[in-house]
Amino acid sequence: MADPKSVCVFCGAQNSIPKVHIDAGKVIGKKLAEKNITMVYGGGDCGLMGAVANESMKNGGHVVGVFPMALKNIENEHGGLSEIIIVEGMHERKKIMFDRSDALIVLPGGFGTLDEMFEVITWKQIGLHTKPIVIFNHEGYWDHLAILMESIIIKGFARPETRSFYRVVTTIDEVFDAMQV
Ligand code: AMP
Repeated sequence: MADPKSVCVFCGAQNSIPKVHIDAGKVIGKKLAEKNITMVYGGGDCGLMGAVANESMKNGGHVVGVFPMALKNIENEHGGLSEIIIVEGMHERKKIMFDRSDALIVLPGGFGTLDEMFEVITWKQIGLHTKPIVIFNHEGYWDHLAILMESIIIKGFARPETRSFYRVVTTIDEVFDAMQV
């Protein structure tokens, strides 16, 4: 097993979030840079995603942002990344983020993050890929999601093997261990 060359980071775009998650995101951004792992993400300059990207750039990392024109009036694209890819809409953005990464990690986020996470889990469910998907349950942020996902499987609405399609972890070291390819 080896570090992936590039990792897609799904996480929140809102700014008014607990600092504890920003701090953890920064540690991840720095570690990605130190390990020479390219960060691929949505390309915005705000929220947790902006913080992770900034920290990676600050530490000499390579960061690729994929920003949709459709978001122009809602989010700002980051002006200081290694590479910015401007696309028309959300679907194209998600496809490129997925194609450009060897593993996918999910940090605390909102509904956009959930949309992105479930899309890659359901793609894995139907055999479209085998990339690692790591859910960082930082400070219990995703506790209820993990319970819901388990309940879906226990009640038979998802197959038991679905459990093997993602890993829920609680420490940054585990995030990096679980993304190995
Ligand atoms: P959020 O988790 O809601 O803060 O959003 C995180 C990222 O997901 C942001 O870059 C949003 O632009 C993106 N996002 C929001 N809604 C959607 C959607 N319907 N499809 C794909 N991405 C989205």
